[in-house]
Amino acid sequence: MRNAGEDALFGSNQAEVGDMTGEAFAAALERFSQWVVAFRGRVGELPVMSRVAPGEVSAALPVAAPLRGEPVEAWIADLDRLIVPALTHWNHPGFMAYFGITGSGPGILGELVTAALNVNGMVWKTSPALTELEQVVMGWYARAMGLPTSWFGMITDTASTSTLVALAAARERAWPGARENGLAGAPELVLYCSQEAHSSVDKAAIVLGLGARNVRHILSDDEFRMRPDVLREAIVADLAAGRRPMAVVATVGTTSATAVDPVPEIAECCAEHLLWLHVDAAYAGSAAVAPEFRWALAGCERADSLVANPHKWLFTPIDCSALFLARPADLASVFSLVPEYLRTDTGAAVNLMDYSFQLGRRFRALKLWFVFRAFGTEGIAARIRAHVELARRFASWVDRHPGLERLAPRHFSTVCFRVRGVGDESEDELGARNERVLAAVNATGEVFLSHTKLKGRTCLRIAIGNLATDEVRVRQAFDLVVEHAQLQPVQPGT
Ligand code: PLP
Repeated sequence: MRNAGEDALFGSNQAEVGDMTGEAFAAALERFSQWVVAFRGRVGELPVMSRVAPGEVSAALPVAAPLRGEPVEAWIADLDRLIVPALTHWNHPGFMAYFGITGSGPGILGELVTAALNVNGMVWKTSPALTELEQVVMGWYARAMGLPTSWFGMITDTASTSTLVALAAARERAWPGARENGLAGAPELVLYCSQEAHSSVDKAAIVLGLGARNVRHILSDDEFRMRPDVLREAIVADLAAGRRPMAVVATVGTTSATAVDPVPEIAECCAEHLLWLHVDAAYAGSAAVAPEFRWALAGCERADSLVANPHKWLFTPIDCSALFLARPADLASVFSLVPEYLRTDTGAAVNLMDYSFQLGRRFRALKLWFVFRAFGTEGIAARIRAHVELARRFASWVDRHPGLERLAPRHFSTVCFRVRGVGDESEDELGARNERVLAAVNATGEVFLSHTKLKGRTCLRIAIGNLATDEVRVRQAFDLVVEHAQLQPVQPGT
């Protein structure tokens, strides 16, 4: 026997199997769209960082799925009661930890349509528009950043995947036949990146069988940029020891300090030693949509591959990472493998499964397409600029306060700073004190900042990237740091 909830979803006259009726779906869509609109309206009033204890959410949920269907109102009630309070709200204007992001209106609408279409872009014919829109939107993105429009672009879930896929091609170039024969009998293949590079580089080395110890973390300079002289020395030393240098990963916008490695010199070094150059511009790549930040991508036109993440600073809901390749054939030589059931006769059409290890492919281009169409490249540039300006102001407040100091130059929308040491306070004591200040600031629920270490020194980080973040919120973050560090308050307007 059906219950009332099931009747509401599936209709009392329908057969026992099948999806929601059109009527029930329309009513639920209306209900959820109201929920989403209301949530977006009130998210700024919620505590930005979740306050639940580990295990609390799972303990509140039944151990097994319901035997019979439940009405939409029951799902919504639990969403409000159990899920929302246990979220750290990345779409909150006070979220300024890690890298601030935005699941923007157009991006959310894109996700909705993607789910409704539910297409899978394994090969061109399984959804021609998915493959072709992805290529077109990647072209738009490259053009908007001032990167070569001849590059091949493809969307993956994360920068970690993009880097892994690119480095698989680098491995094939360094040890031809690795795809067929594996690495048995190969010399040790070596990967170079700076001390400040993201851990996804190390993870790629683990997955590709290079071994984590074959990643050289090249010393960075006082501004956290890779030192090309030390890179050259490391390559020479590895060659002398019989190892085979494989690739260099340069970072444009490092995770902690948003430093920009000297890509032109690194590209020169890669050309001399025939090494693959992969650029990780996961965060800062999108800044180049504003022409005044194109300097950060200087030299990147010489890269073999580059990753930039629209889900970081291009207002696109997670997940959406863009991988660009100078020569797509490099990827196809590693990943193209066509079983009979996937053979097609569509001639020159691109089959995206040939360029990565994944077969199934979500229609992610749609949300990025909506973002470009809603904001336009000028609108995106204006928003990037506004975030950078907020960070510039925050940095100037830090610089003017005698109790605070900055630990890195500010290039984009991220500021690294800390409460200054007093008397004979040791580095460890100072680090612990800064961590206590951070915990107290985050416990207010008004803002969420994060921390990192730069050359062994603990620092606090503010990273602006949410479209709802304004100067009032950024000032609030500053005032909360001052208050919880028990520093002299600053007069408004200074
Ligand atoms: N590269 C850099 C420079 C990053 O800052 C990050 C994450 O913050 C990543 C890569 C990894 O990004 P994803 O979460 O998309 O794998």
